[in-house]
Amino acid sequence: MSLLINGARLADGTITDLYLKDGVLADPASAPAGVERFDAAGLLAIPGLVDLHTHLRQPGREDAETVDSGTDAAARGGFTCVHAMANTSPVTDTAEAAEYVHALGEREGHCQVQVVGAVTKGLAGEELAELGMMADSKAKVRVFSDDGKCVSDSLLMRRALTYVKAFDGMVAQHSQDPRLAGSTACCHESEWSGRLGLPGWPSQAESVIVARDVELAALTDSRVHVCHVSTAESVEIIRWAKKRGVKVTAEATPHHLLLDTPLVASYDTTFKVNPPLRTSEHVEAIREALADGTIDVVGTDHAPHARQDKDHPFDIALPGMLGLEQALAVVIEVMINTGRMDWPTLVQRMSSTPAALGQVPGQGRPLAIGEPANLVLVDPTARAAVDAAASKSRSRNNPYHGRDLPDPVVATYWRGRQTYSR
Ligand SMILES: [Zn+2]
Repeated sequence: MSLLINGARLADGTITDLYLKDGVLADPASAPAGVERFDAAGLLAIPGLVDLHTHLRQPGREDAETVDSGTDAAARGGFTCVHAMANTSPVTDTAEAAEYVHALGEREGHCQVQVVGAVTKGLAGEELAELGMMADSKAKVRVFSDDGKCVSDSLLMRRALTYVKAFDGMVAQHSQDPRLAGSTACCHESEWSGRLGLPGWPSQAESVIVARDVELAALTDSRVHVCHVSTAESVEIIRWAKKRGVKVTAEATPHHLLLDTPLVASYDTTFKVNPPLRTSEHVEAIREALADGTIDVVGTDHAPHARQDKDHPFDIALPGMLGLEQALAVVIEVMINTGRMDWPTLVQRMSSTPAALGQVPGQGRPLAIGEPANLVLVDPTARAAVDAAASKSRSRNNPYHGRDLPDPVVATYWRGRQTYSR
């Protein structure tokens, strides 16, 4: 496919033509006269978004999502690469399992699928998984996570951090002390959890693990990444650790940037997520940290669930919400439209930095001649009410349903091919 995009504005304000040819950005001056054209006047062109934290549910829960449907949703959200979390069935904890998901991505993906390997066998938290073999496999795994569960054993976490150093890998931690916030914890511990009669999830159950992990990252001189930061206390610890030069990075989810605890009062299980929605003071701390770089990236934690897993009382329903399709919309709404962030910074937080952290070649690159044609065309002013029924995901647990939000993604191109068009 070849396409000449005319008059797009780059994140830095430059107006330019982009010529997509054979999967790369070629010199627009070399485009033949009859080439297909797209008039992008008024639109922004930014590098394709990269997600470090996606649940594609395949293998095992294809009723909730597949590589096909999940990456279709990703393309609609402007993503050209997602990292598929390991908590599938079977768990991605061997080279063979990693290669299987990788092959599914190459065959059925509407964007690049990078495989996240489990840190421990079966996510059981007892024995390290085959980290080196997953790294050496065709899937070239560089990010390891037991996400959904915390690697709570300090010695095991130390060993994992030590092991991944050999290939500059990263351990992405789901920070949740299982004693302070057990499997039933489902509401930010506060006046709300008391009033609603829901088991409390104190913010310190997150921050005590973050504090331990930054110390272990310092001890091993290895890379730790804090998944879905949800509390002001965690932000303070990460800020302190970065000042000391610890190799710690962190992500914020769209939902922790926009939604807060009072939504849980409806007992609508769409709003059940782990870690839980926090109070507005925590939300404010997350926004500030994403703006100043203490939180490095946006990670969606896109977590599709079939209806039968959400149709339960609040404390029993599975936690998780969709995130890929509205991630950019939410970041525009709370960060760009409020003047907290500019477009070049958004590109860092949602494309170049996550690509660098995940060591993904060809992603998060500037839109320049010779670079891979991974990009998204954005209308920064369009708005619409979110309609959960219109989702490309197989699931409908969309927490933004009915909200008026930006509707930014006009078209997405991956490896020079159009993967979404409005
Ligand atoms: Zn997750």
